[in-house]
Amino acid sequence: MSLATIVVIVGAGPSGLLLAVMLARNKGIKVTILDADTKINDNPRAAHYAPSAVYDFHRAGILDDVRKQGFTPKGVCWRRKDTTFLAGMGREPEQSQYAMVVLPLDRLGPLLVRHFESLPNTQILWGHKVVGIEQDEKEARVVVQTSDGESKKIGGDYVVGADGASSGVRQALFGREYPGETLDKQIVYLPFDEKFDYWDSNFIVHPTDWYMAAKITTDGLWRVTYGDDANLTREEIVERQPMRYEQILPGNPKPGDYKLISMNPYKLQQRCAPSFRVGRVVLVADAAHLCNPFGGLGLTGGFADVGSLYDCLAGIHDDELDDSILDKYSEIRIKIWREMIDPLSRANFHRLWDENAKKEREEFFAMCEKALDDPLWGKGVAESVHSVRHDFTQYYKSKAKATE
Ligand SMILES: Cc1cc2nc3c(=O)[nH]c(=O)nc-3n(C[C@H](O)[C@H](O)[C@H](O)COP(=O)(O)OP(=O)(O)OC[C@H]3O[C@@H](n4cnc5c(N)ncnc54)[C@H](O)[C@@H]3O)c2cc1C
Repeated sequence: MSLATIVVIVGAGPSGLLLAVMLARNKGIKVTILDADTKINDNPRAAHYAPSAVYDFHRAGILDDVRKQGFTPKGVCWRRKDTTFLAGMGREPEQSQYAMVVLPLDRLGPLLVRHFESLPNTQILWGHKVVGIEQDEKEARVVVQTSDGESKKIGGDYVVGADGASSGVRQALFGREYPGETLDKQIVYLPFDEKFDYWDSNFIVHPTDWYMAAKITTDGLWRVTYGDDANLTREEIVERQPMRYEQILPGNPKPGDYKLISMNPYKLQQRCAPSFRVGRVVLVADAAHLCNPFGGLGLTGGFADVGSLYDCLAGIHDDELDDSILDKYSEIRIKIWREMIDPLSRANFHRLWDENAKKEREEFFAMCEKALDDPLWGKGVAESVHSVRHDFTQYYKSKAKATE
């Protein structure tokens, strides 16, 4: 790759922005980000970043700022609907360098944009919707429709589709079908003020009234994620929210007992694209795979793609790798999704409500107890999330020579 290398990233979501900061800051690569929206998404959405993601925040040079704005959570636990404690882990927050950090995406996004825009050779083009892809041996191009009604093409050495679940890049490569399934439950996210004596993250186990309540900021904002019938419309879900809160939360609160900041019905999906690479076009994060958010593996897996792809593109740039590495990127990232992210995220979800998951639930709670009794062993369990990452620098020519 020459110094004039251009990477075009489609999507100014968390995955596209993190990759962009890493490429521009660490390698001086020219990065253009295109986003269909006219501004950054201001919906809180994901907030918990696992140690594996924190490792890449460190490599991107953003970790100090993220820690300043966010916090390290104190423990996750499982409870009955009447709040009786069932099991928990991580009550004393891990103080290690890559300990989990919590910062809602509506705060992480602007932070990433500030870092990106402070670097040379960078630009974000808002109001640029990608509707097609073209490529030849020398270049990949995105076909764009701007919010002003203009149509244009923008090219680079590589195009990265980081444009989320309904990715225009993925659809240009593979059509509308996104292999996988939508689960037969949908969830509603509601941040609300702190009221109950809960740990920082709480999963409530119940056949119908399951939910998660998590502290997501240090200024009193909590998020409740609860389930409802998959067949309800958005309007029906909004209408049922006060009744559902009264039904599921301790103390049966009524509107006025809490301050509601926002609300988002969300479909649960387990999906994976057939390949994460076609020529000079590569997919990451939600554009490449989806899973339900219980356990936070969606974005954790997305950021792990970013770390892997960064090592691949940096290796190509530094002549440490040839671009066949992108086939390996696709193969390994898909394997990790199939063997870890898909099954673990399904287990995290079923543990909350499914009677058939009783055995798994008991084994899981026994593991939590062991982790509490033996903190060193517990630390190992917490750090096992690092296996969603794959270190592509091990394939660098200089490393191969060093081990010859
Ligand atoms: C309500 C809600 C709550 C969530 N909670 C959690 C959670 O607790 N834990 C968790 O792990 N995950 C959670 N998620 C999922 C998490 O937010 C996503 O995994 C994450 O945002 C994916 O990041 P991304 O960068 O891949 O894509 P996105 O954040 O979806 O960003 C994609 C960007 O691409 C742009 N774009 C889309 N199409 C085009 C196009 N054709 N051309 C140009 N630009 C385009 C969009 O405008 C957007 O800015 C939640 C999601 C939602 C909606």
